[in-house]
Amino acid sequence: MGLVPHLLIERRSLLRVAGGGAVGFAILGTAACGDDAAEPTEDAASPTEESPEPTEEPTVEPLSWERVDLGFVAAYVLVRGEEAAVVDTGVEGSAPAIATVLDDAGPGWAGVRHVVLTHKHPDHIGSTSAVLTEASGATGYAGEADLTAIDADLQPLGDGEEVFGLQVVATPGHTAGHLSVFDPDTGVLVAGDALANQAQLSGSIPQFTEDEAAAAESVRKLAALTPSTILVGHGPPVTDGAADALQALADSL
Ligand SMILES: [Zn+2]
Repeated sequence: MGLVPHLLIERRSLLRVAGGGAVGFAILGTAACGDDAAEPTEDAASPTEESPEPTEEPTVEPLSWERVDLGFVAAYVLVRGEEAAVVDTGVEGSAPAIATVLDDAGPGWAGVRHVVLTHKHPDHIGSTSAVLTEASGATGYAGEADLTAIDADLQPLGDGEEVFGLQVVATPGHTAGHLSVFDPDTGVLVAGDALANQAQLSGSIPQFTEDEAAAAESVRKLAALTPSTILVGHGPPVTDGAADALQALADSL
């Protein structure tokens, strides 16, 4: 039953690669509804965002997010309808807390399609084996430069790739293979440890940073995305004034 939305998301990925940006999304939105609902869709060939017709139920669900509070670190559950991606897995023993959030959000383990690790540090990958065992339908990913340091069956991800409708943003510095993910539709950015929000929004915490110059460049790269919401490994989400706060940070580095 999860097959159709999964395929649609895959197709959306292709369209975004082919067409880029909002046009790709608009075309997919109408075409996907037509396929799914088997209703006449004469407007499929000429997508108009201003269409006054009542909208059909979307088949590519908008993204929502949940924070898995693991104390000093957080993991995130990203949800589209009945499917989910898990970003980071916390320390060892975090799988039950992730399961609780997945169950409350709807998809449960069975709905998890992707497990994305932002980087190789143990507070972000500690429960990866347990999570991938429970989420048996999921593919695990990490940045190529961090991959060999993580003892799990993972696929490499690189800058500009797309997973679950999320744009992969290589953000080296904290570690060489550090990744962030960004949802262009909602502006939600999961920044791992490329950013932190402890006393205030900051870049990668210096004492844990492999390459400070690269880390600063990654902050500037993330600022250019003008995110509406910033989810970090350490500290609470930034949901008000996120883009401005991040730009101010980038300008200060
Ligand atoms: Zn961390």
